Amino acid sequence: MFDNKERTDLDHLGEFGLIEHLTKAVELTEKSTVKGIGDDAAVLDFSGNKALVSTDLLLEGIHFDLRYVPLKHLGYKAVQVNLSDIYAMNGMATQITFSIGLSSKFPLEAVEELYAGALLACTKYQVDLVGGDTSASKQGLVISVTSIGYAKAEDIVYRNGAQEGDLVCVSGDLGAAYVGLQLLEREKRIFLENPDIQPDLEGKDYIVERQLKPEARRDIVQLLATLGVKPTAMIDVSDGLASEILHICNASGRGCKLYEEKIPIDPMAYDTAREFALDPTVCALNGGEDYELLFTINQADYGKLVGQADISVIGHITEKEAGCELISKSGNVHPIKAQGWNAFSS
Ligand code: ADP
Ligand code: MG
Repeated sequence: MFDNKERTDLDHLGEFGLIEHLTKAVELTEKSTVKGIGDDAAVLDFSGNKALVSTDLLLEGIHFDLRYVPLKHLGYKAVQVNLSDIYAMNGMATQITFSIGLSSKFPLEAVEELYAGALLACTKYQVDLVGGDTSASKQGLVISVTSIGYAKAEDIVYRNGAQEGDLVCVSGDLGAAYVGLQLLEREKRIFLENPDIQPDLEGKDYIVERQLKPEARRDIVQLLATLGVKPTAMIDVSDGLASEILHICNASGRGCKLYEEKIPIDPMAYDTAREFALDPTVCALNGGEDYELLFTINQADYGKLVGQADISVIGHITEKEAGCELISKSGNVHPIKAQGWNAFSS
């Protein structure tokens, strides 16, 4: 995919030259960063706050397909999916480390693209890049991001705090990233069969962006703080609504009732799912990669959320014995099962 572009062999630079080249543009802006790149470890100071740490590993062929994911988007997304985990603890992300394994097929220009995406995400979300590791890889591209953030001890929201009667809320809309993936997969198949046909993604910007360029919901964490709402439990939606609500219910020892008609689904995602003969609700339940925040709040806080267009109340928490159920639009009751994508199932 880099055939038409300039190619500089990574061997020319060597490991240290590559690190130097990639990180020379890095600027540190966070006051909690005492020392960034350039020593054996970064040094951070959260002065009295708790530190939050989360890490993810992304492997070519397992988590992403370079045939339709531009490298800049990949770098951006790799950072976003990690920041999302810090926001899901009701914290603010302040630093990341970014580690890469590179096979010989990658020229410098490709790595620069990847890094440009990662740094764009850092700048946009006010996060310092404070380190990483760089290695050769025999099995394609490997990316590992660790995100670091902080919160006051009393502000941290775990998965296990949902109480009976709490309202179940979700930010944004669900299912679009999965529908976007179906679209990209279809265009890839068409392209592989006939390389003369250009991808037809006309009018599908939103769902393609939701797949390729997700945005972690820092704004929702800030909004909740402004509104004076501390969720009782929270998780980010990486594997689909079904899997995530089950995590909250299991960790909290509770059940839930969700209402299909309340699940927020973007109209374009809805129509495109239908074109693919997919049930839009199933896309929201089992699709994943939405990186929205799913959280529960005490009923007393409901009034504070009224009029917030970006937050939907989709159900409530029940006693454990009632199980986890979805009430369909026609009033049928379905048990919620986790069918989120499982890396070890195939
Ligand atoms: P070490 O031998 O201790 O692993 P390295 O030579 O790998 O050290 O790294 C030197 C410095 O460059 C460290 O501060 C490290 O965090 C940073 N670094 C290495 N690779 C990357 C990368 N891909 N992105 C950002 N910083 C990196
Ligand atoms: Mg190293």
